Amino acid sequence: MADDYYALLGVERGASAEEIKKAYRKKAVQYHPDKNPGNQTAEEKFKQVSRAYEVLSDDKKRAAYDRFGSEAFQPGGGNFSGHGMHFSQSQNPFDIFNEVFGEGFGESLFGGHGMSSSGHSSGRADGNDLRYDLEITLLEAFNGIEKTLQYQRHSTCGDCGGSGDTPGSKKISCPTCHGQGMVTMQRGFFQMSQPCPRCGGARQISSNPCAKCGGRGLVVASHKVQVHIPPGVDTGTRLCSRGGGEGGRGGGAQGDLYVVIRVKPDEIFQRDGNDLLTSIAVPFHTMALGGELEVRTIDGHGMLKIPAGTQPETSFRLRGKGMPSIHGSHGRGDQFVRVQVLVPEKLNKAQREKLMAFAASMGDSQTPKEGFFQRIFRP
Ligand SMILES: [Zn+2]
Ligand SMILES: [Zn+2]
Repeated sequence: MADDYYALLGVERGASAEEIKKAYRKKAVQYHPDKNPGNQTAEEKFKQVSRAYEVLSDDKKRAAYDRFGSEAFQPGGGNFSGHGMHFSQSQNPFDIFNEVFGEGFGESLFGGHGMSSSGHSSGRADGNDLRYDLEITLLEAFNGIEKTLQYQRHSTCGDCGGSGDTPGSKKISCPTCHGQGMVTMQRGFFQMSQPCPRCGGARQISSNPCAKCGGRGLVVASHKVQVHIPPGVDTGTRLCSRGGGEGGRGGGAQGDLYVVIRVKPDEIFQRDGNDLLTSIAVPFHTMALGGELEVRTIDGHGMLKIPAGTQPETSFRLRGKGMPSIHGSHGRGDQFVRVQVLVPEKLNKAQREKLMAFAASMGDSQTPKEGFFQRIFRP
């Protein structure tokens, strides 16, 4: 069945480009899937009005439509293809929407980031979430720690409670953004749309704004918060401090603070998940004869048994000597100790004679092996 694009948008056949755009805006917002979750009929309508706008907003396509009707734009549509023009490839309806409304506008329109869906009329806006990058040592990550963080943030104005108003004042359209909520800035070659600095995207300001916050509903203030860093955190762990973000305007909710952990590299311990890796240089005679060595662990010392005939680069596991699990109940990881061989740089006369006697006693029983050799010096 032929679609009547004019009827879909609810405009006259002679409507101006401006009228068509206006009609599309209204219908697109009405039927947008974000506003009608799970509603198939609305989604279909959204596609149809996007298609209608795509055709009627383009002079060439509109002229073709006026002559041949919507069949000209159906895939494989008959009578139009003979005229040397193909318009059957339709655009993604969301691309059309973003083109008309501008990227980012859709978010605030449907209550995405920063502003509730009732934001336009009431000036209500939720506070932004903040991020705080916190660097701690491996030992702090092992034990867990309390940290006091201090930072500047936008807090809800105490004088007006975030409304930006004085009692009895009226709301007027924001003169800076002309009630659009967004302003366009020129950045080099790029035009960027961003929330209006005066009304913060609320589109309206007070006729008699609060003196303390200048009508913004927010003031910049220093804020201190105590955060508990649990044992077992790793680089990239995100901890949320509820209410630690920026204040809301006009009764909007308080934002949260996200503390993002970075664990500084440690000189002795290398971390692999909840396991810790270390290395130790062991005298060559201990490796040959076997013995017991004291090694450092993250929380003290442990004993490492070296069996006789231990080869270089062998790793030994110290069970339960790794990092605690951030999930608590899973116990601790392990520590892996890799042994390197320690060769004496100087020998006295007696030692040298004994070692030569030892070498002679070995005879030809231990000649260098090439494969073995490469394994030792593998990086
Ligand atoms: Zn105020
Ligand atoms: Zn504004």
